[in-house]
Amino acid sequence: MSAAFLRAFRLEGEGIVHGFGTRHLEEAAPELLEELKEGCARQVHGDRVLWVKDGVRPGAEEADALATDEARLVAVRTADCVPVLLADPRTGRVAAVHAGWRGTIARVVERAVESLVRAGSRQEDLLAAIGPAIRACCYEVSPKLAARFEAAFGPGVRQGQNLDLAIANRISLVRAGVSAARIEVLDLCTFCDPRFHSFRREGERAGRQYSFVRGGSVS
Ligand SMILES: [Zn+2]
Repeated sequence: MSAAFLRAFRLEGEGIVHGFGTRHLEEAAPELLEELKEGCARQVHGDRVLWVKDGVRPGAEEADALATDEARLVAVRTADCVPVLLADPRTGRVAAVHAGWRGTIARVVERAVESLVRAGSRQEDLLAAIGPAIRACCYEVSPKLAARFEAAFGPGVRQGQNLDLAIANRISLVRAGVSAARIEVLDLCTFCDPRFHSFRREGERAGRQYSFVRGGSVS
């Protein structure tokens, strides 16, 4: 059977339970799918960070980043946008972030790091994993948007008129104080790789993949 999830080496090494779902998740782990759906907020391409705990129903809230320090999962769904998972193995605090181009420009990953730090985490302890997303090979945008990204994140985020949102989010994480050596980028393009749903490739009928991380694991 094809893998339901891909994992990030560094998070795996610290015992952080997490996964970047593929399109095979639905048949491979239907019971987990329900938990993942409940673990997602209503994503609106903003920069709000929602803390999830008892009494908070993510599905009733608008947020593009979810954080928790409890033994529960937080999740995001994507189909070309960038899923980013953050974990503090010292405290068990985690966050899941959905960053399309709007969220990337709004620096939603920086807001998530700030929120973890406000809760007591140290930037140097954080691990980050940037999951499958549409990459520079396939993500052509308007000249105006490409220029806007170059102004915000430097020339490395564009190749001509194509953007790499994963790289932009890596830059954002480093700006927020996460060590570059502790950021893993899964080099996978959702448009190129048929294991993933892709909005650009499949249009309105595209499904979504779920990415999640579970809090509460302390190394
Ligand atoms: Zn591609």
